[in-house]
Amino acid sequence: VSRKWKVNRTRLDLGDGVVIGEGTFSIMAGPCSIESEEQIERTVTHLLDNDVKIMRGGVYKPRSSPYSFRGMGLDGLKMFYDICRQNGIKIITEVMQPSQIADMLDYVDVFQVGARNTQNFNLLDELGKVDKPVMIKRGLSGTLDELLQSAEYVFSGGNEKILLCERGIRTYETASRNTLDLNAVPILKEKSHLPVIVDPSHGIGIREFVEPMALAGVMAGADGIIVEVHDTPEEAASDGQQTLNFDEASRLYQRMRQAYQLR
Ligand code: PEP
Ligand code: MN
Repeated sequence: VSRKWKVNRTRLDLGDGVVIGEGTFSIMAGPCSIESEEQIERTVTHLLDNDVKIMRGGVYKPRSSPYSFRGMGLDGLKMFYDICRQNGIKIITEVMQPSQIADMLDYVDVFQVGARNTQNFNLLDELGKVDKPVMIKRGLSGTLDELLQSAEYVFSGGNEKILLCERGIRTYETASRNTLDLNAVPILKEKSHLPVIVDPSHGIGIREFVEPMALAGVMAGADGIIVEVHDTPEEAASDGQQTLNFDEASRLYQRMRQAYQLR
């Protein structure tokens, strides 16, 4: 995935005019977890109103506690996919293990590899065999070289459709959930031809501060931002503390687009 081997930057075409990479700015927005049909519909309406083309939402959730909500699984994914397809919205969702890939394949536009699975090499090997884009998040305490090596697993398996995602790392700082490392953006873009996405929601973990960090990510050179959004964040099944409501999100999309124009 080094620029030594490929001069032109990778652009990913998700179909229906949705492209990620050089020359465009992508917004991926939606809840941490898919919770219900109504929730998906409300979110899709919000995204359509704001011209956002990619919805995020987990149906397999890696939770620190096994007693927390762990996602709606494949039935939730099919519902998520049906509603988004009808509305021309693409979906990104997390895959946690190799055995889930085959069942998920027809209902996913971008597979997400979560921070807890960045070095799940069996999962990466299997994603190297599919013909769908894969967004790999930086590991909880992962270095940038480790993230790039994880991308090599997918790439060398034959799947060159890869996105890298900076989502914050664990440091000695306890004032925020993670430390969003925006140094990652220019460094990854210098080293690799792959698009770089920033996740300010997990990066800082505090709702009020998601907007400034998202805008900082845009100015650092990100090709896109993935952000957690919910109609009622206070009632979200997961990550409500870092999730924007629809009004906050609409304002953020507008400001990010303005910031991108200034780059
Ligand atoms: C998520 O996107 O909701 C998620 C679990 O992210 P991460 O793997 O970065 O913690
Ligand atoms: Mn989350």
